Amino acid sequence: MSPVYLDCNATTPVAPEAVAEMLDAMRHAWANPSSTHAPGQAARRVLADARARVAAFVGCQGSELVFTSGATEANHMAVLGALAAARGTARRRWLLSTVEHPGLMALARRLSAEGVAVGWLPVDRQGRLDLAEARAQIAEDVALVSVMGANNETGVVMPVPELAEMARAQGALLHVDATQLPGKAALSFDASGADLMALSAHKLGGPKGVGALVLRKGLTLAPLISGRQERQRRGGTENLHGIVGFAAACSQAAADLAANLARMQALRERLEEGLLRALPGAVIFGREAERLPNTSCLRFGALDAEQVLGRLERAGVVASSGAACSGGGTQPSHVLLAMGQGAELARAGVRFSLGPWHTADDIDRAIAAAERAIGPLLAAARPDTAAVTA
Ligand code: PMP
Repeated sequence: MSPVYLDCNATTPVAPEAVAEMLDAMRHAWANPSSTHAPGQAARRVLADARARVAAFVGCQGSELVFTSGATEANHMAVLGALAAARGTARRRWLLSTVEHPGLMALARRLSAEGVAVGWLPVDRQGRLDLAEARAQIAEDVALVSVMGANNETGVVMPVPELAEMARAQGALLHVDATQLPGKAALSFDASGADLMALSAHKLGGPKGVGALVLRKGLTLAPLISGRQERQRRGGTENLHGIVGFAAACSQAAADLAANLARMQALRERLEEGLLRALPGAVIFGREAERLPNTSCLRFGALDAEQVLGRLERAGVVASSGAACSGGGTQPSHVLLAMGQGAELARAGVRFSLGPWHTADDIDRAIAAAERAIGPLLAAARPDTAAVTA
């Protein structure tokens, strides 16, 4: 029996519709969309059609989309572009939350070491952004505020509309890393109030290595990669086949969105109830916060995530952890640390993330496997660890 794959926040399998459309584009739209001859113009039309479909799904105009190699590149373009545009003005500060994706955290550390004024927006024990602190920090000297739409580890949703209002009132730009939203929440760039939004295709059934930065109309940022393509905003021959796959995944996600959200939420609840019942000592992180309907991050007592994940996989369940494993052992998750957990519990977070195709049977198999894999470990663990609250 194949394992139950519950790591959809890391990546999703490529949707059959995306595979079919990509193969078709590879066969029939292989020309360079910048070429003026007929095959090039045909490829250009395929690109325009894909752009329109992604834009319709994201709730923006096609001209506001810049296709990139993924969300990491889009995030870099947003931050480096916005900070460069503010250079020479009184807006010197970049604010970001303490639970951003590791790629953005690394950029913040790098820029801070280079002398950029970086400020941090904290979260509470449930992973919710501290709005009072954000209001205090978003001032006239801020060029850019960056926040994720929802956290990849805990699924906790960030208050984008409130931040958009605060940023607008102070004349700062708002950049939303929306990588985890498509297919898991209603998405509208226009309605969000964000100025910049990063997206990635492979989290919603598209291929890896393609994504987009949405740039609000009228906003011009220096490109990261110079060249003629994407209206001089991102050079390099477009990843046409990837972009077609991205569009197909968007169309697919849009078609069934409301039903998928409800199904995933019900299955996530089934999973959480089953795990809490089967494994006393299991605690859900961010349980009181608004969360994505597909994500559950738990600890099992204080058991180290890597140990739990190894046993889970041998029992037939693939999940993941925000804690990175680096030679010398498991590193605590920066997200759980930011939520006020100590190092031991910040190494204990195990994330299950569902996709729209999962069934109740998958979830029941996962619960049974977890009971077999983790139950004996938990029973043997120190009794006091189960009592520590999240
Ligand atoms: N931001 C978030 C919130 C993510 O979850 C991810 C993927 N793990 C990324 C950015 C990076 O996306 P990509 O793989 O497209 O570079």
